[in-house]
Amino acid sequence: MLDFAIIGGGPAGLTAGLYATRGGLNNVTMFEMGMPGGQITQSSEIENYPGQLEVVTGMELMDKWPEQCKRFGLKHEMAEVKQVTKSGEIFTITLGDGTSQEAKSVLIATGSVPKPAGIKGEREFFGKGVSTCATCDGFFYKGKDVVVLGGGDTAVEEAIFLANICKTVYVVHRRDEFKASPHEVEKLDKFDNIVKVMNHTTEEIIGDAMGVTGVIVKDKTTGELKTLDGLGCFVFVGRNILNDTLKQEDGSFLCDTNEAGEVIVNLKMETSVPGLFAGGDIRIDAPKQVVCAAGDGAVAGIGAISYLQ
Ligand code: FAD
Ligand code: NAP
Repeated sequence: MLDFAIIGGGPAGLTAGLYATRGGLNNVTMFEMGMPGGQITQSSEIENYPGQLEVVTGMELMDKWPEQCKRFGLKHEMAEVKQVTKSGEIFTITLGDGTSQEAKSVLIATGSVPKPAGIKGEREFFGKGVSTCATCDGFFYKGKDVVVLGGGDTAVEEAIFLANICKTVYVVHRRDEFKASPHEVEKLDKFDNIVKVMNHTTEEIIGDAMGVTGVIVKDKTTGELKTLDGLGCFVFVGRNILNDTLKQEDGSFLCDTNEAGEVIVNLKMETSVPGLFAGGDIRIDAPKQVVCAAGDGAVAGIGAISYLQ
């Protein structure tokens, strides 16, 4: 029986593991279906993590976090969690291979995944020109033209990363103002090879047997259609939270959530179910920042110790 099961190995899960093990819990397992680090490992740069003076990649920032946790006894099981249930005082964690483990307390820190833009050609060409990770796939388009979809911080930051590799980067946004912070937008304006295509919707990602060849966009004012030629199309239109592990057989959630499916927590990261914590991007009002996810994890790790006492 685990004292504390952590579902998800991003900044929230790792920090919870650090605080729980260093605080004296002996039997703590973090279930992470991939390599620990979370979604920030896909970011080409992070410059707002406190104390980190140089701009580093997300992978560099997270590099030492798992090692630090292991030092205090956190175990990592590389497995996908399918469902978390509770009977009496005990939680059951059901894994992708059908096996299960029991735990006295649980943290849900499964974060979020890229949201699809829902346009024609997006699914068909995924992995054949359509990508959601500039750090992973940008290099394939060295010296070529690419199209970036979205107007938030991710789209703007990753467009800048791509501008250092690619010939032209078209940034297509459906409004005439970016959602991204003004600081990021200012940086975008310094690149001659970034073309802002504002107030345009994306109609279709087109291609052939070799992959993507361009993106058809529509001017929202005039209705005019045009094709932006590019061999890559990077989709950064937001994120969907991952709350599937909380879904019960009858379709309800294990704990209270809001209409968007975000987990309702109090300031101690406690959910409506005793012993069940949630933190990071999955919780209500999450600022969706590494430092905030890490802070939630620390609070939940400390909370698990108190709960078990
Ligand atoms: P995540 O980082 O999403 O980690 C969740 C983990 O859970 C993942 O590793 C996933 O594999 C795992 N998981 C999910 N479901 C399961 C399951 N069923 N079973 C097992 N494991 C599971 N924030 C900043 O502060 N500054 C930035 O500059 C910044 N830039 C960003 C750039 C990009 C491109 C992106 C995508 C995000 C950026 N963010 C930035 C946001 C930041 O990365 C997130 O707010 C933060 O990572 C959230 O941490 P988390 O632990 O809640 O979740
Ligand atoms: P986001 O902030 O939700 O922005 C999504 C963007 O995509 C918006 O501009 C939105 O348009 C557009 N969009 C949404 N659906 C669309 C669709 N179907 N078709 C076309 N465009 C669509 O998402 P994000 O940029 O991925 O950021 C996620 C979170 O992580 C945010 O909280 C962000 O601040 C954080 N983050 C922070 C940093 C940083 O601190 N440096 C870096 C990256 C991410 P509208 O503007 O019209 O809604």
